[in-house]
Amino acid sequence: MKVNQSYSLLGAIVISGVMGLTPLLASADEVNVYSYRKPKLIDPMFAEFTKQTGIKVNSVFAKKGMIERLQSEGVNSPADLVFTVDIGRLSDIKNAGLTQSISSKRFSNDIPDHYRDPKGHWFGLTTRARIIVASTERVKPGEIMSYEDLADPKWKGRICTRSGKHPYMVALTASMIAHHGEAGAKTWLAGLKNNLARKPQGNDRAQVKAIKEGECDVAVINHYYMAKMLKDPEQVPWAQSVNVIFPNQSGRGTHMNVSGMALTKHAPNKADAIKLMEFLASDQGQKMYVKKNGEYPVKAGIPWNDLQKSWGKFKEDNLSLAVIADNRATAIRMADQVGYNN
Ligand code: FE
Repeated sequence: MKVNQSYSLLGAIVISGVMGLTPLLASADEVNVYSYRKPKLIDPMFAEFTKQTGIKVNSVFAKKGMIERLQSEGVNSPADLVFTVDIGRLSDIKNAGLTQSISSKRFSNDIPDHYRDPKGHWFGLTTRARIIVASTERVKPGEIMSYEDLADPKWKGRICTRSGKHPYMVALTASMIAHHGEAGAKTWLAGLKNNLARKPQGNDRAQVKAIKEGECDVAVINHYYMAKMLKDPEQVPWAQSVNVIFPNQSGRGTHMNVSGMALTKHAPNKADAIKLMEFLASDQGQKMYVKKNGEYPVKAGIPWNDLQKSWGKFKEDNLSLAVIADNRATAIRMADQVGYNN
């Protein structure tokens, strides 16, 4: 008995060792994806890609710890591609030295310059607008039109936002730094902080709920949460209690962010991974991606969904996300300096 047990233990070790190497050996027909995006969002696109090319896509979903995992796996990492949301997370992965630069005509044709890394380390695939929502009952149309308005003392005690250090708020502050300089952005953020109805808390949807419940009149959220709330019976009344405002339409346009992808530094299946990246930037990939998640396509000419059509066309801020990435550290410090979350 004892001997058998130790044999089977040894067998298990050998098998797991071989399995760990499998992705490196089988480099012909598969791509391995580490994803912060939920499988239901991305799996249908991967399935279509496999159908067309015969290249299998294996995806691992993680809620956090992608950087640590890639770092600890090092050159032996099976990961070819990473999928995530927000310029903050994309640039963190790049800055940790975990990505590699690629150039592809496809990307330069399909993805606008400001939605991809100038050196080709990350690429936006879908965009999200950081919109203002305002109570249909307590805020008149036209009363609030810009991010700058959020700092107007007339809104004192009437605005709700999530944490000033959440990546979505950090990117917005980083864009304000780019447009107004550090001092100007700090004055703005302190003004916004002064207008908060409550200590920053909850996610974007929780701010809309607070408007519905009368706790505040104005909030800042990513646009796709409107679609998500309208699909959830409990949240429909929250969504219906607000008007959607695309800020800064008479000036630079609305602050945008992306979900995106990056090729890992040690990608064992580089050629196939680039094929998958190109598929996702193609008309078909873009159509499938935005249909699933309510975000906007990065590529021009892809049809919008009905809700997006109902809001109409809007002007996007063309500020490069690379500039926003560079201003993030200052933006996080600024949130502390003005005591945003206190
Ligand atoms: Fe989100």
